[in-house]
Amino acid sequence: MNAPHLAPLERPSEATLKSLVAELQSRFGSRTVTSAAVREQHGHTLTWLANQPPDVVVYPETTEEVSEIVRLCAATRVPVIPFGIGSSLEGHVNAPFGGVSIDTSRMKRILHVHEEDLDCTVEAGVTRKELNEFLRDRGLFFPIDPGADASLGGMAATRASGTNAVRYGTMRDNVVSLRAVLPNGDIVQTARRARKSSAGYDLTRLLVGSEGTLGILTEVTLRLHGLPEAVSAGICPFPSVKAACDAVIMTIQSGLPIARIELLDEVMVGACNTHSKLDLPEKPLLLVEFHGTETGVAEQAERFGAFAEEFGGGPFEWATKAEERTRLWTARHNAYWAANGLRPGAKPLATDVCVPISRLAECVDETKRDIAASRLIAPIVGHVGDGNFHVQPLIDMDDSAEVEAGIAFVDRLVERALAMEGTCTGEHGVGQKKMKFLESEFGPVALDLMRTLKRAIDPHNIMNPGKIFSV
Ligand SMILES: Cc1cc2nc3c(=O)[nH]c(=O)nc-3n(C[C@H](O)[C@H](O)[C@H](O)COP(=O)(O)OP(=O)(O)OC[C@H]3O[C@@H](n4cnc5c(N)ncnc54)[C@H](O)[C@@H]3O)c2cc1C
Repeated sequence: MNAPHLAPLERPSEATLKSLVAELQSRFGSRTVTSAAVREQHGHTLTWLANQPPDVVVYPETTEEVSEIVRLCAATRVPVIPFGIGSSLEGHVNAPFGGVSIDTSRMKRILHVHEEDLDCTVEAGVTRKELNEFLRDRGLFFPIDPGADASLGGMAATRASGTNAVRYGTMRDNVVSLRAVLPNGDIVQTARRARKSSAGYDLTRLLVGSEGTLGILTEVTLRLHGLPEAVSAGICPFPSVKAACDAVIMTIQSGLPIARIELLDEVMVGACNTHSKLDLPEKPLLLVEFHGTETGVAEQAERFGAFAEEFGGGPFEWATKAEERTRLWTARHNAYWAANGLRPGAKPLATDVCVPISRLAECVDETKRDIAASRLIAPIVGHVGDGNFHVQPLIDMDDSAEVEAGIAFVDRLVERALAMEGTCTGEHGVGQKKMKFLESEFGPVALDLMRTLKRAIDPHNIMNPGKIFSV
């Protein structure tokens, strides 16, 4: 299949932008912002990637307002960049061709909670913590937890996951339906609320993971889960990352319904100890959690302990009190910031890959040896129950040789994961910086099919241009 060409990318003219901004200001008043500080904050700010700010930021409050903004942009062919809280890590919210950042942070209504059906519908700007705060007294929770308190629209758009995915799945599994504004301003509902359906193309899953390139999600209907009766968490040190990964493989292959199983290598453990004032043993560590009944959780923990012992792991220590567990998981969620503290002044090159679980130990082990050979400071942390791990090389951006070494390291990491039938990103997404790997991951036919879909939905290429695949 020959994919049709997408519209060429270029910055809109100053005159076009000026009249668009005037129109937005007349319609949305002080919710249209052009100050440099706010625009910069809406470009990518978190890693070593350069900041590319949009020309203007608008804060809509309803789906209809989003539609109105998109129609104005479509009429003038000005790029539109959807924005949640800006916690994505691969340059997703950068505006390489300028344009309008549509910030969903004022779209905060929790529209429905259907307790009896275990689902809810929220506006895209609600964050995962805000939703869980709201649900707590109802005995329900939403399990997907990227470290950041991300917006649910952003999480759906990046097909996010996190520590709980091994038990509860990713956003792919937990989004029931979406309301979205298409690149021409039309409003679409992708599905009804039924748990399953065989009706037509799966538009929900087309938009989940589309990184703002096919439309702006304005409402998200999500699956909810009952709060488990019992929760227990623990830590288990291992003699090597390979031994820890082998224990993970055995745990998953045995069908043990573990809720969380996270790897921290010894470098990351040291960083977390300093940052979160903990005294964890500075060895490769598995941080685990079990959900279920009191007896179920005790049985699961015992079985996990036996697997760990087979690979030289232990002692297995329990965090029985809720505050201790919260402290451990908060430290885990702050690992990104902890790692940055290892080398003040350096920039993080945060990246992730994912491989089939049987290849996990091999992939992490080879990566560890590569880090040593490259002389990089690069802590590893991972949602290893899914075969997913993150590496965070800390790079001195004034040292061009080090920058090159960082890029070469990520290239090798991705090649390694692809050679093991894995993917270039398990959860962070493609954004700007993983674009170059998609051809090797999918091959030309699948990539052309993606371009054909993009062209059909966004013929003028205004939705988050310059992301996912090149034109
Ligand atoms: C400390 C830290 C830890 C992290 N850990 C994890 C992790 O464990 N797992 C994980 O998956 N990710 C992780 N991330 C990455 C990040 O949190 C996720 O990618 C998250 O889903 C992004 O949500 P956001 O609201 O910040 O979206 P943004 O960064 O604002 O946007 C991300 C992308 O989605 C698009 N977008 C945003 N909102 C919408 C919308 N309403 N409609 C359409 N498109 C939209 C944007 O255009 C952009 O392409 C981590 C990030 C940090 C900083």
